Amino acid sequence: MTIGTFVYPIPANEPILQYAPGSPEKPLLKKTLAELKNTPVDIPMYIGNETITTGKKIAIHPPYEKDFLLGYFNEGEEKHVQQAIDTALATKESWEAVSWENKAHIFLKAAELLATKYRPHIVAATMLGQGKNVYQAEIDAACELIDFLRFNVHFLSEIYKNQPISSPGMNNRSEWRPLEGFVLAVSPFNFTAIGANLPASAAMCGNVVVWKPAYPQIYSANIFMQVMKEAGLPDGVINLIYVDGPVLGKVCFSHPDFAGVHFTGSTGVFNTMWKTIGENIGKYKSYPRIVGETGGKDFVMIHKSADVDVAVTALIRGAFEYQGQKCSAASRAYLPSNLAAAIKEKLIATLSAMKMGSAEDFTNFINAVIDERAFDKIAGFIDGIKNSPDASIIVGGNYDKSIGYFIEPTVVETTNPKYKTMCEEIFGPVLTIYVYDAEQFEEALHLVDTTSPYALTGAVIAQDRFAVELATNKLRNSAGNFYVNDKPTGAVVGQQPFGGARGSGTNDKAGSILNLYRWLSSRTIKEVYVPATDYKYAFLQEA
Ligand code: NAD
Repeated sequence: MTIGTFVYPIPANEPILQYAPGSPEKPLLKKTLAELKNTPVDIPMYIGNETITTGKKIAIHPPYEKDFLLGYFNEGEEKHVQQAIDTALATKESWEAVSWENKAHIFLKAAELLATKYRPHIVAATMLGQGKNVYQAEIDAACELIDFLRFNVHFLSEIYKNQPISSPGMNNRSEWRPLEGFVLAVSPFNFTAIGANLPASAAMCGNVVVWKPAYPQIYSANIFMQVMKEAGLPDGVINLIYVDGPVLGKVCFSHPDFAGVHFTGSTGVFNTMWKTIGENIGKYKSYPRIVGETGGKDFVMIHKSADVDVAVTALIRGAFEYQGQKCSAASRAYLPSNLAAAIKEKLIATLSAMKMGSAEDFTNFINAVIDERAFDKIAGFIDGIKNSPDASIIVGGNYDKSIGYFIEPTVVETTNPKYKTMCEEIFGPVLTIYVYDAEQFEEALHLVDTTSPYALTGAVIAQDRFAVELATNKLRNSAGNFYVNDKPTGAVVGQQPFGGARGSGTNDKAGSILNLYRWLSSRTIKEVYVPATDYKYAFLQEA
């Protein structure tokens, strides 16, 4: 029973630990890295109160040290998808009945556990399993994940407060119901925080969830699941399974109780999902919610008035942090002819001096790409560039998978603004630049807007305010997250609600109030205190 209106004020963003020399967090993290490496795992699936192991054990390796074995996860099959759905649906009634404050405190406790006791573990697991350097792992697995949990509790409490007006003698109210059925969360490899947020945001709203992460993220997803259990999440609310994508889709998308999908990943996979859901629309009890944040071909547009150092820093951080494996990573840049030589010179000098190697050596800015499939695909793009008359590599371009999946940060210059690598998502450390006539800024903006099917992030670098205004207006639909004099990556929960349109997704802005509305289905209740007892209205009388 709820006997109070409890408040969850807007939280502060979780401070980023710096891991500087002499800081307490640095030795603690190094110790945790060593401990995890010395403790091989056998990660089960979590369905209800069962931890499920199977005969199919899949090895987990750090991307930068492919011969080191971190342990295994247990791959499931079709029957486990069915079991996860059945368990979720069996848990639905009891989870819905839990009061909001008791739900809220589970997620707030999880945030606190991640900020303290489990911080080194979730950061270390993200470094080892997904190959992030310490800073990238900290801003993702600690700060963004903690922020998602805390901010969503605040946002949902704001939604619950949102009520209609009432006329005299009656009352109107909105109930913010969870969806009828189960929600499917399908997450990508590149962010521990996204993996956690996709199921957690829907579960917070009272939904029951089947969660399938990308395989390279299972190592850190396992820690998140343990934290949720310690925080008190009842068994069966989030069911974590590891199955092949198409196997998952086959069972979930033909189930009558499929209520929605919370997806982040590539555009191609999302399109396939949407098509399958469309084909099966007659099978469902409700119209499913389809939420997908997908690919990007994110731009940096540099004006002739730009500060060269600001531009170079935005390009380097934007394109190469986490090896360009961010949906928001800068991957095409437009250089004005008056600054092109200076920008290229600094790019070449900076990238040539950059260290690449193991994430456990904190002096490396660049680490490996996620796996062999990604390595081969990116290497294929680089080979294509080497053989193209339209493009040439100005720095980088080497790759080697003998120890880990290492690809040098690579800058490509093209004379064809519609060259393949100006249009297609590569998802690796490859930035393509195109030099435009500095006096043709508006024409170049048109090029930016019309070159790729995506519209996720983008940046303009300029000191001239007219240029900033023009770019902001002309590129209104070119990016869902637009940056002025900054890199196009690094959105912070509560500060830059994140998501793009066009081929980049449904733009439901993860980590904002907008996203939570998608996991709710409002019921309006009208109650009359002294009801009418005669059907006749006054107008029916003549005098
Ligand atoms: P991916 O599309 O290969 O996989 C995403 C998830 O979908 C994985 O869990 C995968 O197993 C699953 N999947 C694959 N095929 C499936 C199918 N047929 N049916 C059901 N599920 C299926 O993406 P990825 O390589 O893990 O991540 C990189 C992609 O994600 C990039 O395109 C990137 O731009 C995008 N991304 C977007 C955002 C965003 O907010 N817009 C954030 C992160 C990543």
